[in-house]
Order: sequence, then C-alpha cells, then structure tokens
Amino acid sequence: MEIANLTIEKVRQGLAAREFSALELTQEALRYAQAENPATNAYLHFCPERAEARARAVDGKLARGEDAGPLAGVPVAVKDVIVTKGVRTTCGSRLLEHYVPPYDATAVQRLEDAGGIILGKANCDEFAMGSSNENSAFGPVRNPVALDRVPGGSSGGSAAVVAQGTAVVSLGSDTGGSIRQPASFCGVVGVTPTYGRVSRYGLTAFASSLDHIGPFGRNVHDAAVLLKTVAGRDDYDATSAFAPVPDYTAELDRGVAGMTIGLPKEYFAGLANESGDLIHQAVKVLESLGARIVEVSLPATEWAISCYYIICTAEASSNLARYDGVRYTTRSDEASSLVGMYRSTRGEGFGAECKRRIMLGTYVLSHGYYDAYYLKAQKVRALIARDFENAFQTVDALVAPVSPFPAFKLGEKMADPMAMYLADIYTVTGDLAGIPCMSVPCGKTAEGLPVGMQILIRHFDEPGMFRVAGAYERAVR
Ligand code: GLN
Repeated sequence: MEIANLTIEKVRQGLAAREFSALELTQEALRYAQAENPATNAYLHFCPERAEARARAVDGKLARGEDAGPLAGVPVAVKDVIVTKGVRTTCGSRLLEHYVPPYDATAVQRLEDAGGIILGKANCDEFAMGSSNENSAFGPVRNPVALDRVPGGSSGGSAAVVAQGTAVVSLGSDTGGSIRQPASFCGVVGVTPTYGRVSRYGLTAFASSLDHIGPFGRNVHDAAVLLKTVAGRDDYDATSAFAPVPDYTAELDRGVAGMTIGLPKEYFAGLANESGDLIHQAVKVLESLGARIVEVSLPATEWAISCYYIICTAEASSNLARYDGVRYTTRSDEASSLVGMYRSTRGEGFGAECKRRIMLGTYVLSHGYYDAYYLKAQKVRALIARDFENAFQTVDALVAPVSPFPAFKLGEKMADPMAMYLADIYTVTGDLAGIPCMSVPCGKTAEGLPVGMQILIRHFDEPGMFRVAGAYERAVR
C-alpha cells in the first residue's frame, strides 16, 4: 500500500478487498508518519496505543459484517488545540506542555465513532494565534512542499500532514483563516464551515465568536466526508446549530452550469501577481463549465483586519485568563505570593504573540477605550456581514484569493507582527460574517508554490460550496 497517496475511498476499497486490515494500515501509517515527521515537525506527538485500539475495533466490526463507518480505518491527525482524552493536548504552548485532558472533544468522538483512526496531534501556533506556525512553543512546522518555507497557520501541522501524506485527512480550527490559509500554502483542501455547524465542545477557546473546527483533505471529497462526520447539533455546545447535515458528497458532481459566481473587486485590487493570475485562470475554468461570472463589491473589506484584530484580541484576553497555574497549567515555582505565582506562571508560560494579544485585548476592552475600539469593531463587523448578504442577493457564491502571496520563508515576517496580520486580509472576513468558506488548490507558481482559490457562500450553503469546489477539481485533475 502506498501510504502517502491514500484517500478515504482507497482505504475503503483496500479494507473491502482485504488487502490490509485496519490494524495493519494503522501500524504502517504510524511507522511512515514517525519516519517522515522529523523533516516537517508537523506532528507534536503520536498516540499509537489509542490508534491501534481503535483499529482493532474497526477490524472487529468488519469481521462481524457490521458497518464500520464512513471513515473506517482512515488515518487522521487532530490539531493540538482540540482535546483528546488521555492524550496530551498542548495548544502549542509551554503552559500546557503536560496537560492531559479528561475528555474528548465532540468532533474527536464523532470521527472515531465513524471509524477514523487518530495517529497523533498536529503542531500549531500557540493557542491558534498566528499565520505561519512559527508561534508554536515546540518549534515551527516546515512546509512539505518547500522545506525552507512556512506551512501557514495557525493549523500549519494539520495542513502539512495531509500534504506530506502522513495522514489522509485532519481536523484544524479557523478563527481568522487558520484552515484556509495553511491549506492554500500546502496545496490541500481546507474547509471553514458555517459558524455553529461543527460543535466546539473540546476546542480550546481563542475567540469564541469566531472559532470554528473544520477539515483538511487531499481532495474535495475527503474534506466533504470528514465535515459531514463531525457536523451537527451537540447539546454540549449551545452555539451548535440544529440545522440538519446534508450529504455534501452528493453535490460534487452536479456541476456549476447556471450558477452565478461573484468576484469581489476589493479582493483582487492589490493582487497583480502570480497568485492573482492563477485565481483568474481558475475563474476561467468555472466560466467554461457554465458559471456566469460577475463583479461584486464588498466595500467594508478595507476595515476587516483592524476589526478582526480588535475582536479576536478582546475575546482572547478573556479566554486566556484561565491559564493561571491553578487549574490546568504548569505552575511557576515562584511561591512568595498568589499574585507572584500568577504573574510568573503567565510570564514564563505564554509566548510573545499571546502576550501581545492579551495586552491588546485588555486595552481595547478597558474603560474609556471600549467605545472607541471594541464597540466600533462590532459595528464594522455588522457592515462586513451586510456586504456579504447584499452580494448574495445577486450571486450564488463568491470566488476570491485566500492569501495575497504564497508560502513565505521561515523567519521572513516574524519581526513584524503587522506584516504577519496582513497575511489574513482575505480570510478574516468569512469568519467575521460566520459564512462557510474553503480553499481549493488552483495551481502552483513558477517556483512550485501552491496557491489556493477561496470559495465563500451563504450561511449553511456548504452544499453549494462543495458543488463549486467539486466541479473545479474535476475539471482540472
Ligand atoms: N492568523 C490569524 C490570527 O493570527 C488567524 C488565526 C486563526 O484562525 N486561528 O489570529
């Protein structure tokens, strides 16, 4: 079996033809992933005992002739901000280096109930804050496509394992682009579903009004299967939606004939480079398949970065208050006073980016500045959402770039947080509006760096989004 090129369908066929058992596949996938991982640092740690136990359960079901589930035997990685019972969950932070959660996230439980095999936990920026995976306390991830470049962030490990072939699919999280941007940098498919589509129970909170869990895959089909598996109402997450979960794979072959696709002009204005050319070529493909292409305007886009970095830091400053050395975290040895212990635990434990955001967020919420920053940002957020609503009056979906540039070099933007924040210019809007959006590979630059095309659509119209993605992928493969 060729581990690095497996898909969900190939795993299903292999198990059905008894080419391998789930246990054999799991052991081989673990061996391969452990051997390849030093090149990228994409996995932080593996969980072979858990993986093998799940694989035996799948084999048992298959032997009894039972349905082993849509992900039966499929090797999966889970971003290390999503909790796994008995398996360390560090959030890429020194503070949680030794934290072993007592429960599973709902998404984790659902993917295992569907037969998926978690091989290990994927590296990420500390508490999912970053766009390059360089904010991990456990070292950056290298992009498997070009090892001197970043994989994107914050779900850099989740994208890299799928690109490298050390997992078939993976789960990541997206607050301001953390699934789509790494997917585009690594040349894989990444989906940010509608806000509330996937339960966040067990996702470590960064900015709760923006946080999403979503899938990565090497093709659109695999991402669709994983999304269907983890989506749906969960009583443990009051923000999870009751809307029924359709079969997203049913949309993949419908084609785009008759659809109207909008190109937001603000997203293309500063994009006179190879990434822009590749997106325009992809749009031509959609047009040749029968889609009608029109230009639309999303005028509030210019304030999106400021709006996002006010709201996300405000929420982060509140969510991260719990890491104080008392309940979860590694406690500092400083024992002279309680306040001293808090101060040194947080001072030693948080990395520079987390500290920067806690300070920014505390500031924008503080008396006297709340109205000028936080309240204003909430108003801008409403304008951004309204822009999308207006656009969707006339178009079925939007196509846009994911990132203004392809994967950059490790270290290139670390000294300049503003330059790093600007990398998120095309991705934060979807999260601010809560609409589904995804990145689909649409070619490579002359240097061989992958570029992703973003598809954005109305709330809960993931079916329409997969329809566009499926049609495009089929046309170019
Ligand atoms: N890059 C963005 C940030 O640093 C997005 C992070 C995310 O989506 N988790 O906040």
